[in-house]
Amino acid sequence: MNEEIIVIGNSFSGLGTAIAFAKYGHKIKIIAPKKKAQIIGGLQIAPNGLSALSRLDLDNEVLRQADKLLAVDIKSFELGSSLTNISLSKDSSPYLSMSRQDLFQILLKKCLENTLIEFIDSKVIAISDQLNNTSLILDNADILTASFIIGADGWDGKTRKFVNPSANRADSGYSIYRGVFPSSIIPTGFSYPNLQLWLGDSCHLVSYPIRNGKYVNFVFAFSEKFFSKTSIKSIFLNHPVLSILGEKSDFWNLTTIKNSELSFNWRRGSITLIGDAAHPMPPHLAQGAGQSFMDVACIETELANGSSISDTLDNMIKLRMPEAHSVARKSQISGNIFRMYGPFANLRNQIIGLAGQKIIDEFLQELWLSA
Ligand SMILES: Cc1cc2nc3c(=O)[nH]c(=O)nc-3n(C[C@H](O)[C@H](O)[C@H](O)COP(=O)(O)OP(=O)(O)OC[C@H]3O[C@@H](n4cnc5c(N)ncnc54)[C@H](O)[C@@H]3O)c2cc1C
Repeated sequence: MNEEIIVIGNSFSGLGTAIAFAKYGHKIKIIAPKKKAQIIGGLQIAPNGLSALSRLDLDNEVLRQADKLLAVDIKSFELGSSLTNISLSKDSSPYLSMSRQDLFQILLKKCLENTLIEFIDSKVIAISDQLNNTSLILDNADILTASFIIGADGWDGKTRKFVNPSANRADSGYSIYRGVFPSSIIPTGFSYPNLQLWLGDSCHLVSYPIRNGKYVNFVFAFSEKFFSKTSIKSIFLNHPVLSILGEKSDFWNLTTIKNSELSFNWRRGSITLIGDAAHPMPPHLAQGAGQSFMDVACIETELANGSSISDTLDNMIKLRMPEAHSVARKSQISGNIFRMYGPFANLRNQIIGLAGQKIIDEFLQELWLSA
């Protein structure tokens, strides 16, 4: 069977890519297992991500369902006191937070409504590249080929392994506890429409409301050298504000943070990588999905300008690779600042208290507007 465009993966970049191509009349097959685990937690959508979503005509629905954040409130983790407060409401484009599942449903609905997009309920189990012909072997025993295959199956997916088999991802020595709490059972300050960033000694906590403030999403990142991974309760014990969150250990999920090297190759045979498969993002600037949407927006812009599929994908790689790498580096720098310890952490908090507003404002504006 020979199809023109196949997309592997049905998360943010796979669904987004299908919507972009279908908008210009292309038929798409999305290969992904239909039964998808519930996507947990929240995500932030910065102005660049929202602008990218507008290219798919999804911005209005996202704005309807998302929470609009009014400020970034930076606090001392140890004391709970405010270091600085950066207004987000003056920006013409809003900064949003929303449930990851809700965002997924918006993209999925748009795909299901489009007769040009077909889903194949299957998983790619192997990829072969013989005689310049890229073939996908599916777990239902089908073998598919296509002139254009989009690898949107994430960093651990088959396509990234096929295109960049030697790319490395190593443990960073840092872990993350993530949790979503009903607002009714935690201190009220967390459900204000603010992004809170609590900077500590070798750790930081991020929180923001989702689903109209009914829930609050927490992310606590910490050095495994200085904190025990076995219990968030023991980490938050005796904290003046957070101890109540630590006591509810069932709400938290632990993951380790990996360091991925930048990938300079997004193409092999008919396969072009996109999203996390092409550029895994360190999590510190919450730009992973945003950058995936920017890949998709780039495809949409190329198609709108009349480019062929082949030129569209070539130009997407050419334009997006340096931008995505730049954001990944900025994210890593932010992570290094968040991770400071001892006297460096104290000095960081003092500088943020004195001059943080201007420095951070400029850093974020550059990131969100130019990236
Ligand atoms: C908890 C959490 C919080 C985050 N918060 C933010 C945030 O605040 N802001 C932000 O911008 N980003 C955030 N991110 C990052 C963001 O979610 C990712 O960057 C984004 O999901 C990447 O999308 P993707 O479609 O490229 O890949 P993925 O989301 O990894 O999706 C890959 C898809 O491919 C499918 N697949 C895998 N293997 C196969 C196969 N063999 N055959 C067929 N299908 C396959 C999977 O089922 C999956 O649906 C967060 C990530 C996590 C985990």
